[in-house]
Parts: sequence; structure tokens; C-alpha cells
Amino acid sequence: MVQAVRGMRDVLPAEARRWRYVEDRLCMTLRQFAYEEVQLPLLEFTELFARGVGESTDIVEKEMYTLADRDGDSLSLRPEGTAGCVRALQENGLLYNQTQRVFYTGSMFRYEKPQRGRYRQFSQVGAEAFGFAGPDVDAELIAIGAHCWQVLGLTNHVRLEINTLGSSDARAAYRTALVEYLTPLAKQLDEDSQRRLLTNPLRILDSKNNATQALLTQAPQLTDFVDEAGHVHFNTLRTLLDELGVGYVVNPNLVRGLDYYAHTVFEWITDDLGSQGTICGGGRYDGLVQQLGGKAMPAAGFGMGVDRVVLLHESVHREPVKSAVDIYLCYTQSQYLAFASEIAQQLRATQKIAVRVHMGGGNLKKQLKRADGCDANWALIIGQQEREEDFITLKHMATGVQERVDRNSLVQHVLVHSADADVTE
Ligand code: ATP
Ligand code: MG
Repeated sequence: MVQAVRGMRDVLPAEARRWRYVEDRLCMTLRQFAYEEVQLPLLEFTELFARGVGESTDIVEKEMYTLADRDGDSLSLRPEGTAGCVRALQENGLLYNQTQRVFYTGSMFRYEKPQRGRYRQFSQVGAEAFGFAGPDVDAELIAIGAHCWQVLGLTNHVRLEINTLGSSDARAAYRTALVEYLTPLAKQLDEDSQRRLLTNPLRILDSKNNATQALLTQAPQLTDFVDEAGHVHFNTLRTLLDELGVGYVVNPNLVRGLDYYAHTVFEWITDDLGSQGTICGGGRYDGLVQQLGGKAMPAAGFGMGVDRVVLLHESVHREPVKSAVDIYLCYTQSQYLAFASEIAQQLRATQKIAVRVHMGGGNLKKQLKRADGCDANWALIIGQQEREEDFITLKHMATGVQERVDRNSLVQHVLVHSADADVTE
């Protein structure tokens, strides 16, 4: 048998149910904040990511799935969503004299070392807001995250870290100072940081290497470079978060290494997933639209790692997410199939009840075993007596209680009883 490609995951039914449950609630939350959905291509010109993510980032340097199109163009599977989102809105004139608040969901691809919570194909829910320069949007993006954790019952398992990079001038000045400080010490840095010193020095602050972190304790501090406007922006954000009741810690080493990031950066982190603990990262990237060839425009957004949110949900809420089958429909003779299908359609027409009709014949005992096996809430039984006396038997699987139900009141009956049984949403 041909096997799956390393790092490409199969999401099988039990996990897919949880996956759907989680992703639906993330998307619902975005809709409740009135963000509009966009659907974007998986493939873009490689150049888009080189410019939009940054030549010197790990993503572009070594993590992209790049291929030559048949006519020789260099294309890449998207490693993240922001660059493509900016491209799409810009190309279609949706950033012209207007603001936008959009979200998207779907697969991203990065050639990384696969492990729990880190895959080569993974899924993000991303949100982006264009045309808003103030900290109110930063706060809104953070509030969306907080709302998601609340809806999913994860609030007590995540924390928010925030930081400010200051204006882009302040950042540039800090970058110079950091390079000046670290260059004479370069030999003592870990290998990645040595490389980053030349390409992407701010990212060194992120290093997990102890020797590097020790050197950084004496390094110039980013906060000392943040200008007045930067402090005002950040302090306003903090006040807004306080007013919203969203707790946070300021982590002065939290950075996003790209040149177009400025002001706010934030991450939602959990301790429950080991080293793959960042479930959402975001910030303000006022320079990006211009970097990609558009008119300068403020922007902010986040990317949420759905795989990790699903893992966290599973570790917190261990009980399986309920099966897709509400009703398993049994019928004892092949000539009852047409009638059974008609009943199934009536139930499905409510758009609230999922009905699986038994297939493959066999006696009632075998059919009820199947009903049990798929975790259906109820079995509906259409047998000889039911047909002759014109009723349907409804069996509640958990209790084994059976009821005779009139055909005309069946739908109503199931809906009423399912109100507390949590029928498929
Ligand atoms: P990390 O430090 O974990 O590599 P990142 O900074 O590369 O994360 P971003 O590019 O900010 O991640 O992407 C946003 C979110 O997408 C991350 O916070 C994480 O939840 C998720 N994510 C990123 N890479 C992966 C991956 N390979 N597998 C699963 N989820 C991922
Ligand atoms: Mg990464």
C-alpha cells in the first residue's frame, strides 16, 4: 500500500467530528464580530511569499513547498494566509478607499519537522483588518481570540502575551543597536542566531538557546527604543484590554521578525501541549500592503492554528464529540425500504436530525447492534407489526426504552425529545 506523505495527516471520523465542532465555533465567532469570509488559492507565485513573508524568514528560506508550473513559473503552496489575503483584496480593488475585516480558513504547508502539534499540512483560521491604524482593532482581534476560547471552554488553559515593537523607525533603530551589541559576541550565539544576526536579528530574541538568552540579558532593550507614539498606542491597547476584562502579560521578548511589523504583537499560549504551545499569533503589520505593491495602509491580524486548538480541546474535554448519527433507521423487510426512506426524508427536512438508514439487510437484532455501534441516540424500527398497525417504534438507545409513535407526530416527537439530547447542530 502507498502510505501518506510524512507530516500530512489524515483526520479520521472521531477526530473530524471534534475538528468540525471546533472550527465551526471559531468561524461562528468571526461572523459574530462581523468579519466576512474570503476563500483564497492554495497556490501562489513564490515571489508573493518572498516579498510578503520575507526572504530571510525560516518559512521562505527552508519551509516552502515550491514547484515549477508547466510553463516554468515558480509556484508555492501557501505557508500562511496573510500575503495571499493582501494580494487578493488589493488585486480586486477591495482596499481602495475602504476598510476591510475578513477571515479565512484552510490548509497551510510548511516543510518542518513533524511532531505532535506541528505538521507539514496544517490548518489555520486567519483574520485580517485593513485600514485601521488605532489600537481599537488590535484589541478587537485579541477579543475575538478570547471569545473563541470562551465558546470552546478553554479560557482557563490559555494565556495572552503581548508586546509592542514601536513604530517602524523605532524598530529600525533598535535593530541597529542589537546588531552592534551582538556582532562582537557572534561566536557565542547558537547557529540559527548567528545566521539571523545577518538576516533577521530581532528573531534572535525568540531563541530557545540558553547561551543566547544569557547574552541577551545584557543586550539593549526593545522597550527603551519605543517612541512616544508607540507607548501611547500600546498603553491604549492595555487599557482597552483591561476594560474588556482580557488578562495578559507583557513579554518584552515577544517579536515577529519581519520588517513590516510594527506596534502590537501578541500570542495566545497554552502550557497543555508541550513545546507546540502557541495556538494563535498575531499583530500589526502596517508596512505589508505597501511592501506588496499597494498604497500604504494600516493592517493587523492573527493566525490561529486549528490543529493545536483541536488538540487542546481534546485534552481539556476528553469525552468524544457526539456521533453524527441521531437516528438509525431499521426496517425488517426489503419492501419497507421506500417507506423507510420517506420517513428519513421527513426527519432530514427539519435540518436538525441526521438519519442513517440501515443497509445490507439482516435481522432486527443485527440492525440494532449497528445502531449501537454508531452511537445513534435512537433507533427507529419499521417492522411487520409497525406496518400493519401503522405506527413506528422509537427506541432510545441509552435507556433501551421503546415507544410507539404515530407517523404524523414522529418529527415533532423527535424534535421535542432531542432538545435536551443535543441533536446534530
Ligand atoms: P511556531 O513558533 O509554533 O512555529 P509560527 O510563529 O511559525 O509558530 P505563525 O506563522 O504565526 O506560527 O502561524 C500562526 C499559528 O499557526 C501558530 O501560532 C500555530 O498555532 C499554527 N502553526 C504554525 N505552524 C504550524 C505547523 N507546522 N503545524 C501546526 N500548526 C502550526
Ligand atoms: Mg514556525
